[in-house]
Amino acid sequence: MRTVSKLLGLACVWLVTQPASALNIFACEPEWAALARALAPQADIYSATHVYQDPHYIEARPSLIARLRRADIAFCSGAALKEGWLPALQQRAANPAVREGAPGMFYAADVVSTIEKHHEALVGRGHVHAEGNPHLHLDPDRVQTIARHFSQRLMQLDPEQAPQYRQAFQVWQKHWKQKRLQWKQQALALSGKSVVVQHSTFSYLLRWLKLKPVADLEPAPGVSPTLSHLDTLTKSLETEKPLAIVHNWYQSDNSARWLAKRISVPVLALPSTVSEKDGISTLDQLFDHLIAELRSAQL
Ligand SMILES: [Zn+2]
Repeated sequence: MRTVSKLLGLACVWLVTQPASALNIFACEPEWAALARALAPQADIYSATHVYQDPHYIEARPSLIARLRRADIAFCSGAALKEGWLPALQQRAANPAVREGAPGMFYAADVVSTIEKHHEALVGRGHVHAEGNPHLHLDPDRVQTIARHFSQRLMQLDPEQAPQYRQAFQVWQKHWKQKRLQWKQQALALSGKSVVVQHSTFSYLLRWLKLKPVADLEPAPGVSPTLSHLDTLTKSLETEKPLAIVHNWYQSDNSARWLAKRISVPVLALPSTVSEKDGISTLDQLFDHLIAELRSAQL
């Protein structure tokens, strides 16, 4: 009963604060929903995925199709992450506002460069990032560029509320720049250290922090770790120990633990994106969390 009245209360607040013309934003990944909340606080925002899901493999469920059908704007990583499930969703939602090339279809990868284009050579083995690594929300500099472009797109699509979007961006940017300086400072202790990863999820972050990904538990992008590959890694890592072995919340930690036991280094389970129920609701909270976790590995 308490939950019901709480929900009713929330619904009333929503009705009061939501202007009739509020934009409907569909975010493919939770990080973009979080950024959209900061840049368009009045909007109705929905995230298609959450931190415990592998963003490469999403099912085009009817609820997602219905959400995309109502959207004024879709905010997605793009690059390799658009190849799997988004085209099916766009086709079935049949919403001209978010079709390919429409101003309402916003891809983060279209406004910044991507790294690790070499994955192209691995086409046919697991999922690959032929258009470069799409996990670009983990670079504070790229996020700033993406935020600026997304804010401009909001103004273009909803000119009546342009002053509000401009102000929200300025507030966000000021805070982001301060946080960026703080992260740079915190990262000094990590600079030059090496880590072992499981998939290239954190590549942008590691690069920004000047950490070196010296090995990947995946024998090829998107291919699950094999015993023979782990065995090879054990031999090569025994002499020069990494800071930690890093994996995502949505991945099994079996391989990371197997290797960690052999080379005696810590395993870090890191969120690849925001998660409100875990107290990481915004992108700056995500960077705070990730950097604190990495720093804790060297204590
Ligand atoms: Zn990936």
